[in-house]
Amino acid sequence: MSIIKKFIPGALVALTLSSSAMAQDNNFNYIVDRFADIEVLRYKVPEFEKLSLQQKKLIYFLTEAAIMGRDILTDQNCKYNLEIRTLLENIYLNYTGDRETADFKAFEKYLKQVWFANGVHHHYSCDKFIPEFSQAFLSDQVTLLPADKQPENIDVLAKVIFDPTYMAKRVNQAEGMDLITTSACNYYDNITQAEVDSFYVSIKDPNDKTPISYGLNSRLVKVNDSTIVEQVYKVGGMYSEAITPIVDRLTEAAKYAENDAQRKVIESLISYYKTGDLRIFDEYSILWVNDTNSQVDFINGFIESYGDPLGMKGAWESIVNFKNIEASRRTEIISDNAQWFEDNSPIDPRFRKEEVKGVSAKVITAAILAGDAYPATPIGINLPNANWIRAAHGSKSVTIENITQAYDEASHGNGFNEEFVIDEPTRQLMNKYLFITDNLHTDLHECLGHGSGKLLPGVDPDALKAHGSTLEETRADLFALYYLADKKLVELGLLDSPEAYKAEYYKYILNGMMTQLMRIEPGKDVEEAHMRNRKLIAEWAYEMGKKDNVIELVKKDGETFIKINDYDKLREIFGKQLFEIQRIKSEGDYEAGRALVEKYAVKVDPQLHKEVLDRYSTLNIAPYRGFVNPIYSLVKDDKGEIIDVKITYGEGYIDQMLRYSRDHSPLTK
Ligand code: ZN
Repeated sequence: MSIIKKFIPGALVALTLSSSAMAQDNNFNYIVDRFADIEVLRYKVPEFEKLSLQQKKLIYFLTEAAIMGRDILTDQNCKYNLEIRTLLENIYLNYTGDRETADFKAFEKYLKQVWFANGVHHHYSCDKFIPEFSQAFLSDQVTLLPADKQPENIDVLAKVIFDPTYMAKRVNQAEGMDLITTSACNYYDNITQAEVDSFYVSIKDPNDKTPISYGLNSRLVKVNDSTIVEQVYKVGGMYSEAITPIVDRLTEAAKYAENDAQRKVIESLISYYKTGDLRIFDEYSILWVNDTNSQVDFINGFIESYGDPLGMKGAWESIVNFKNIEASRRTEIISDNAQWFEDNSPIDPRFRKEEVKGVSAKVITAAILAGDAYPATPIGINLPNANWIRAAHGSKSVTIENITQAYDEASHGNGFNEEFVIDEPTRQLMNKYLFITDNLHTDLHECLGHGSGKLLPGVDPDALKAHGSTLEETRADLFALYYLADKKLVELGLLDSPEAYKAEYYKYILNGMMTQLMRIEPGKDVEEAHMRNRKLIAEWAYEMGKKDNVIELVKKDGETFIKINDYDKLREIFGKQLFEIQRIKSEGDYEAGRALVEKYAVKVDPQLHKEVLDRYSTLNIAPYRGFVNPIYSLVKDDKGEIIDVKITYGEGYIDQMLRYSRDHSPLTK
């Protein structure tokens, strides 16, 4: 399984205090809301106005298709989520009491968290939120609702909300447990992990060279305690009430396709939604990856499988976007040189691809974020996920630059660098080069990293099992880190200084060893694949460089700082790590992969953790960030013809969430 998303958390980007040429726009308010560990931003959609009317109409209907899927993801996250969200919203709208009481404020905070996470579990840690309002408050408010809005199963819903041990974790990845029965996600019901495993073993053909993505678009349940059934997400199947309006809007969008290739992509997606046939999904994915001439692009469907402890089921998501032609020159240069990077990669030549196929890359402007990409969103995407399609047809890789710009703009002057970066020269290096090296890191990770290397014949792509995602992200990150320091980037004109890479190296080690810990609660392990990967690389590098003092932990006034003494050696270490990780992947060496993850990626030093949390708390920076979307509206003439699509940005967080629930919620009506 190749998992291909890169998240930038608030603090990580907080480092990109770029002094670059990005214009400050004093009239645009990036920060929308702040609650719990969350900051909500808004993003601009530059150059939308310059698109043709046809492109604007296409985008309009694709964004409508995107917003329609929100309920699906919420329901996938936990089977009680939609009922709870509706209940909370009804109470919120019905409430006539004092809005300044502690109970009401806590209730509002909880509702904001549920909206942000698309459910009752934290979007990142997967732990259930602990409400800070009383159960009595909830009961009182329920009795004040009109009779038809009082849920019949309020006891169950209250248990889900208030009992910290019940459905405690959305995705449980703790080794040795039944990952299905201990996970609260809604991809399975009434079934054990052993039953799931044997079900999929029984329907998989191990000799199939072009296997479908088994289980991607279905819920697996055991009915009557005996028969195991896949409930397929499709028109006429599960989530039909949401998929049908999505299909309607896609049908409308197809009328405004930029070209035949794009129209076929949309039609193929529609046919997949109508049949639920995963063979058609593969056909669609191939058409999609080959459509590189259209400026407008989108994903819409069951895509990433982080939400399933077994990594099979796809969470619904959609991102509509269009190519940023100017900025795409950067990724085109990287793609054009893909073979050079592959041939010079510091791995065993047996694991190199003789021919790197179709690595297409571009910088895009997001027009809407939806489902699993909303409000928290990736900053890069690399799809499709099916290994054989990637090998035979390549993949499409994008960096979402209007999102990274919004992060960057919103971070100016928050004090993060002053607190955690060791000295002024390092801060200056970062001010100067971190925005560009961060973007290049994402480009290299997405365009080349995931697509590089190959499995030895006969190696099961799922051989690394539960550690597959972490090790795949590790591989892509190491590829990017190794090449960031290569003089090739200067030769290609991508960087103007051979020193620039040091900014990213410093940030990477600082984040991997220290600052990302601010997103972990005291006493908890690191669980999310990308966080594990960063910790694995950083701590392993620290250990490997110990004898040469490559990375040093320095104490100043009792506070810990990262000091990098030898950047050249650090690059060598990244190369050696890549050599080993690629070997593990290519040979399917589960034991070696597991050992690395367990040793470096999971356990947190409690003392350092506490220090990071303490220092971080003085800054009042939100560990997580996400976005509200702009609003698109049709402008029509007297005859009802669409003459323009207007974009506006003013909507607040609560307003947007309530509007989506009111107008775009096919599964709760
Ligand atoms: Zn990745």
